[in-house]
Amino acid sequence: MDDPVTASQRRSRPRHLAYLLGWMGNPERDATEIPTTPPEHCPRCNAILPKSTRNWRLRVCPSCHLHQRLPARDRIDVLIDDGTFEERDAEMESGDPLTFRDSRTYRARLLHQQQEHHHRDALVTGSARLGGIPITIAVLDFTFMGGSMGLVVGEKLAAAAEEAIERKRPLVTIVASGGARMQEGMFALWQMARTAAAIRKLRSSGIPYISVLTDPTTGGVFASFASLGDIIIAEPEAMIGFAGPRVAEAMMGSPLPEGSHRAEYLLQHGHIDAVVPRPMLRQTLISVLGAWQDARDLDQEEVRTHAPWEADPEHELPSAWELTQAVRSPARPSSRAYIERIVSDFQSLSGDRLSGDDPALIGGMGRITGMPVMVIGLDRGHDHLPDSAPLHPRPAAFRKAHRLMMLAARWRLPVVMLVDTPGAWPGIESEKAGLAAAIAQNLALLSDLPTPTISVVIGEGGSGGALALTVADRILMQERAVFSVIAPEGAAAILYHDTTHAPELAEAMRITARDLEAFGMVDGVIREPDDGAATNPDLAAQLVERAISAHLDELRRYDVRHLVRHRYGRIRHLGDDHIIAPSRAQRLTRWLRGKVRGGGNGQNPG
Ligand SMILES: [Zn+2]
Repeated sequence: MDDPVTASQRRSRPRHLAYLLGWMGNPERDATEIPTTPPEHCPRCNAILPKSTRNWRLRVCPSCHLHQRLPARDRIDVLIDDGTFEERDAEMESGDPLTFRDSRTYRARLLHQQQEHHHRDALVTGSARLGGIPITIAVLDFTFMGGSMGLVVGEKLAAAAEEAIERKRPLVTIVASGGARMQEGMFALWQMARTAAAIRKLRSSGIPYISVLTDPTTGGVFASFASLGDIIIAEPEAMIGFAGPRVAEAMMGSPLPEGSHRAEYLLQHGHIDAVVPRPMLRQTLISVLGAWQDARDLDQEEVRTHAPWEADPEHELPSAWELTQAVRSPARPSSRAYIERIVSDFQSLSGDRLSGDDPALIGGMGRITGMPVMVIGLDRGHDHLPDSAPLHPRPAAFRKAHRLMMLAARWRLPVVMLVDTPGAWPGIESEKAGLAAAIAQNLALLSDLPTPTISVVIGEGGSGGALALTVADRILMQERAVFSVIAPEGAAAILYHDTTHAPELAEAMRITARDLEAFGMVDGVIREPDDGAATNPDLAAQLVERAISAHLDELRRYDVRHLVRHRYGRIRHLGDDHIIAPSRAQRLTRWLRGKVRGGGNGQNPG
């Protein structure tokens, strides 16, 4: 891609080099003279980037926030802990499998590039530490033949992934690439398969892989290892796409929509987890990898005491219908409000990696009372979007939840779910995108997800869409929350063709936390401030936090196989007491009685 940024970078380099050489070679110069190198300017807005500042080191414009491209070694310098990088496979170089030539031989081109750089191909790999955490790192250098992937890049990447597995160290890749290296023909294309296979091994071993996409990320690198990250982060405005914008336009025969092929566009369409500005990248990686490391090393024996959180069963509460209306109030705290209050170091993760990111579902990693967790919350948006209709989750929400649950299981993070939804969105677009299947997939996954799970109903539990995030080792409900098979108004419309019957149906359907606790569906009822969570959200959040923390402490003592067995038993047998199944003797008696009467249905009693 020949954008104005690179063009300007190319122009500025020889000028600075000449200046520097001129200064070094000048015998007249004063021995104490300090080189007054001219400050660099942002190629986009021309703002001054004073040298020796952090922004200059990061090559981020302080004014328009343009992220200029960083060569591999500069990237390693600014990202990892000082002095911890140990390079591997530094001597590896391409054997020129096609003895390729165009206007020049590939060999000569490679030699030239190797002299320009301190490495022999486009990928630099090695081990390092990031906030003290040992990692394996692989950085593509766009200034080396456009960061293109041939045999050496593929081999070094695969070897780095295998080393990450062997030494149980997370892999971080920083990508800047135009795609496969055409000078190596089909051998270059094959590296897509080689790297994808190695990353798959890494993922199934439960070692984290974080892929960072920078400007530009395209072609065979984007369509292989770069897209396989457990977590995919992109830098702001980075050009990212399978094909470059010009190729896409030529094939489509029409101009591209505004902003396509940019990091933000991918985020909006559900393909990446987050867009993180370069100055925040290091801290983001440290907090995500720190959570993984702590979840693994958690002291199982530590006993913590927990302040009480249970609701008083004698506490007088409004009617089920009044509760139903109250949980929909914009004053009642939403999932977002609870996450803000009880989850520290929260790193929001976006997208279902298929079609979009649904604002009705918030998900991400963080810590609750210091313990690393994956938090997934259904959010009706009523408190931060008070003037709009409540958000209903769509298929993308359930697919994102599914993805985050799988990630949590691989990284051994307990899953904490917060439930508050009027129900899944029933519109035609939901049907088109497979809403029912998406809900079903979550229910099935939650039945044997190999990690502790806790679900807290904090408002309205609306039907199947809510249940898709409720099946868990521990199901908790706030004192004033409700959960129903259908909203009372919906039930009234169906049963009476008259919604004025909603209040009596709210009672009849037994939808309150106490009802469901009595049925054995709910394991604990969490106290709320006297007049409800809306009157004191901070206290409400504190009580929810205590309840989650107490159950997390208890669950993490169990072997996860035991939890899954127990969970299945509960799902399989809940409500069995209310099934009237005649015993074998009773069936035999009925059959005989039928014979004596000369009637019967002729069915075998066995
Ligand atoms: Zn600028």
